[in-house]
Amino acid sequence: MTSDVPTITLNDGIEIPQLGFGVFKVDPAETERIVTDALEAGYRHIDTAAIYGNEEGVGAAIAKSGLARDELFVTTKLWNDRHQKDSAHAAIDESLAKLGLEHVDLYLTHWPTPAKKDYVEAWEALLEIKEAGKTRSVGVSNHQIAQLDELVAATGQTPSVNQVELHPAFSQLELRIHHQKLGIHTEAWGPLGQGKYDLFDRGPIVEAAEAHGVTPAQVVLRWHLQIGNIVFPKSNSKHRMVENFDLFGFELSAGETAAISLLDENKRVGSHPDDVN
Ligand code: NAD
Repeated sequence: MTSDVPTITLNDGIEIPQLGFGVFKVDPAETERIVTDALEAGYRHIDTAAIYGNEEGVGAAIAKSGLARDELFVTTKLWNDRHQKDSAHAAIDESLAKLGLEHVDLYLTHWPTPAKKDYVEAWEALLEIKEAGKTRSVGVSNHQIAQLDELVAATGQTPSVNQVELHPAFSQLELRIHHQKLGIHTEAWGPLGQGKYDLFDRGPIVEAAEAHGVTPAQVVLRWHLQIGNIVFPKSNSKHRMVENFDLFGFELSAGETAAISLLDENKRVGSHPDDVN
């Protein structure tokens, strides 16, 4: 099957599909079925994490799919209590065993846990893990501007991505500008506001949905793609997976994109990264 999903070339030359499927809060017992549905719907980029407890289900679905390894892009993340180098090396081996893979495509530090002052050590561990061939690309998640600068200053190596909360009510303009300066690509978690906001009732989103004959969720996801974000919305239901993947038959105008960007209220649905330790 051919896919309309564009790829983005990261700062290390690795290509990532701009649209994928996330499995936060997907029940481990249901993960194999749900990821199988996602692969059938056409997704080839899966975003999981050690802490989600569902890497085995992701691996089972991949094995069952019969897809070639190089057709898939798999991300997982190092949990907060494994930042010390020895522990991080053991953690990637555990994740790979659960996923049934020899390498992942992208490995991220999940949170910087600033109170522990060990995010530079975690980043150094990720660089070693890449060197060992266990991941093709390395990046971070939930890092703020000063922390990104610190990683680059300490190691001379720039993360390929920073995966942060980002949606129309929290559009992270300052951080995105800093990413651009450093050559980091922005991955948006909670791209639909985790369904916790009334995003789908906001004027510019509803109007664009009506104008293009699509759903508000499709408008929000299309907005992400057009402002350059990498996204991996989550859904347990096949029809929403199909809906969230069907983003390439319409284009928002510059005015529509700008009107959605103006919905920013600097409002998070998730934790502030300073508070996760
Ligand atoms: P999301 O914004 O993708 O929201 C998912 C929820 O939105 C669903 O549970 C459903 O209720 C609703 N939804 C999905 N499709 C819809 C549709 N078409 N119409 C109406 N409602 C719809 O939130 P998320 O799952 O938190 O974020 C996506 C992915 O980001 C996660 O699965 C995970 O992979 C990643 N993530 C990372 C972090 C991090 O700290 N790095 C944190 C949270 C999530």
